[in-house]
This record gives sequence, structure tokens and C-alpha cells, in this order.
Amino acid sequence: MDCLFCKIIAGEIPSAKVFENDSVYAFRDIAPQAPVHILVVPKAHITSADAVCAENSAYVAKIFEAIPEIAKNEGLTNGYRVITNCGEDACQTVKHLHFHILGGKQLQGQMG
Ligand code: 5GP
Ligand code: ZN
Repeated sequence: MDCLFCKIIAGEIPSAKVFENDSVYAFRDIAPQAPVHILVVPKAHITSADAVCAENSAYVAKIFEAIPEIAKNEGLTNGYRVITNCGEDACQTVKHLHFHILGGKQLQGQMG
């Protein structure tokens, strides 16, 4: 499958890994929008939040179990933002479900 994040998970494309377990892989965004900008992805190929269903939602739970651990490791004690862009109107560029963790500064309040 020609998927950038599947290739990153497989180690075919290098990444700055910050967390990994059986279900979840997390790495630093190549174009950070904040001092801390991490992408958290399921190890299974799920296209977007719109493709989450009963058969694969355990991956989403595993991602949200990992997020506080990652945030703690990154020292995000004053808060952080978790975002997923879903589909064309949200400007999703990589069609493999991913959650952005943004933090390390006071983020702006706007949501688009
Ligand atoms: P989206 O726009 O789909 O929500 O987010 C995709 C994110 O992937 C962007 O923030 C972009 O900077 C990041 N990205 C794109 N290609 C690569 C890459 O090869 N390596 C890493 N680490 N991040 C990437
Ligand atoms: Zn994929």
C-alpha cells in the first residue's frame, strides 16, 4: 500500500520516534507548528476518523491511552491540543488516521 505513514511505521522511511507499542506509533512532525508537535498513529491502516468503526475503534482507545504518557514525557504539564484533520474540508493531507499533539507554548484559540 502506498501510504506514507504505513512506510514510517514499517521503518521504510525514517522518523523521530517518541513512543511505540503493539498498536500505536508516535513520531515528531517534520514541519512542526509548535515547540512540541507529535503525530500519533495506529499501526493498522485506518484512512481517517471517518473510517473508525466497531472493528477498529480499539486502536483509537490505545492512541488516547498513549497520549497522556507522551505528553508527560514531553513535559507538557501546562496543557496541549489534540487534533485530527478528517477529509478534504479539514485539509487532511496524509490519508492514514493521525492525531496531532501540539504544545510547548500558549496556543491560539481559533479552530479554523
Ligand atoms: P494532516 O495535514 O494530514 O493533518 O497532517 C499531516 C502531517 O504530516 C503534517 O503536519 C506534515 O507536516 C506531516 N508530515 C508529512 N510528511 C511527513 C514525513 O515524511 N515525516 C513526518 N515526520 N511528518 C510528515
Ligand atoms: Zn497507512
